[in-house]
Amino acid sequence: MSTPLKTILLEQIATSGPITFADYMAQCLMHPEHGYYQKERVFGQDGDFITAPEISQMFGEMLGLWLADRWIKMGKPSPVHLIEFGPGRGTLMADMLRAISPVEGFTDAANIHFIETSRQLRKLQKEQVPNAKWHDSAASLPDGPSLIVANEFFDALPIHQFEKHKGEWLERRVNAEGETFTLVLTPPSAKLALIPEKLKNSPEGSILEVCPAALSITGDIASRISDGGGAALIIDYGYRTSAAGDTFQALMGHAFTDPFAEPGKADITAHVAFDQLNQAAKEKGVATFGPAAQGMFLMALGMGARAQQLSNTMDPIGQQRILSELKRLTASEAMGTLFKVLALQHQELPEAPGF
Ligand code: SAH
Repeated sequence: MSTPLKTILLEQIATSGPITFADYMAQCLMHPEHGYYQKERVFGQDGDFITAPEISQMFGEMLGLWLADRWIKMGKPSPVHLIEFGPGRGTLMADMLRAISPVEGFTDAANIHFIETSRQLRKLQKEQVPNAKWHDSAASLPDGPSLIVANEFFDALPIHQFEKHKGEWLERRVNAEGETFTLVLTPPSAKLALIPEKLKNSPEGSILEVCPAALSITGDIASRISDGGGAALIIDYGYRTSAAGDTFQALMGHAFTDPFAEPGKADITAHVAFDQLNQAAKEKGVATFGPAAQGMFLMALGMGARAQQLSNTMDPIGQQRILSELKRLTASEAMGTLFKVLALQHQELPEAPGF
C-alpha cells in the first residue's frame, strides 16, 4: 500500500540514489509530518505496541525510587535535572514523580526535562507532566547534576547495516524498482569504522548493524554525568554482547510486519547493542553497572513486595491484574530477560542498587 511518506522516499531515491537504512529509519519514525511518532495512538492496547510503563505503574515507581536513592547518595543537590529521553505518553515520568513525592525535598529540587522530537507526543506529555521543559536533543540541556532515564528510546535510533560480500563489508541501502523498495549492496559509509573489529570476522553473508546516534547519545549522557554528577538508567531490548544478524523490524497492531511495506505507518526498531553502549560510556569516565535482565533488576528493587502491597487493597480481579502485570514485566518468557537495564553513574557514587 502506498503512503505519503512512501511517495517522498521513492522520489528521493529517484533523484539521489539508494538511501542508507539510517536515513530510511529516521524518516519513517521522525518525518515532521508523516513520521510514525506523529501518529495519535502508538502505544498501549489500541496502539501498535505496549511498553513497560504502559503495562504497569509499578515500573515507574521502581525507577523513581532508584533515582531518589541516587539523589540522596549524591548529597541531595538542588536543583537537580530529572531528564527523560523519548518519554512517549509521559506515563513513566508521571509514575516516577508520584513515587518520589514522599522523599523530602526531591520534587522541589527536580527540574524536569524531556528530550522529544514528536510534536504530537509532546502534547500528550504535557497533559501528564505540565511543568516539564522540552528539548529536541540533549544539546540544549542546562549543565548541572542530572538523573536520567531512557526506556525504549535507543531502539528507535537509526541504524546502518553492512553485509559481507566476497570477503568485503558493503553497506545495505534501500533502493526502488517501480513502486517497490529493494535492497542493494553499495560501498560502505564511514560508519563502518564504528563496528567492533572482532565482529568483522563474521562469515560471508553475515549482516552487521551499528547505531551511531546511540553511541554518541550514550557518550553525551556519560560526559554530562562525569562533569556534573548524577546517574542514568538505559532500558531497552537487545544484545548483551553484540552479534551478527538483522534485527531491523517493524510492528503494527501488535504484530510483526514488513518494515518496507508502509513507511510511516509501522513502528521500526533495531536491537540495542549494550556492550557497545557500555564501552562508549566507560570511555567518558563513568562507572557502569549491568546490563542486568529487567526482571532481575525490578525484583531486586522490590517490585514483588510492591505488587503484594497493592494487591492487599484490591478485590480478586484487581489482584489478578497486578499479578499479571508483575509477570509481564519480570518473567523470562515475557519482558524479563530480553529487556535489559544498564546504569551509568559518577565514579564517586556508591554501588548502584539492582545489579
Ligand atoms: N519511553 C516511552 C516511549 C518509547 S517510544 C515508553 O516507554 O512508553 C520512543 C520515544 O522516543 C517516543 O517518544 C519518540 O517520539 C521518541 N524519540 C524517538 N527517536 C527520537 C529522537 N531521535 N530524538 C528524540 N526523541 C525521539
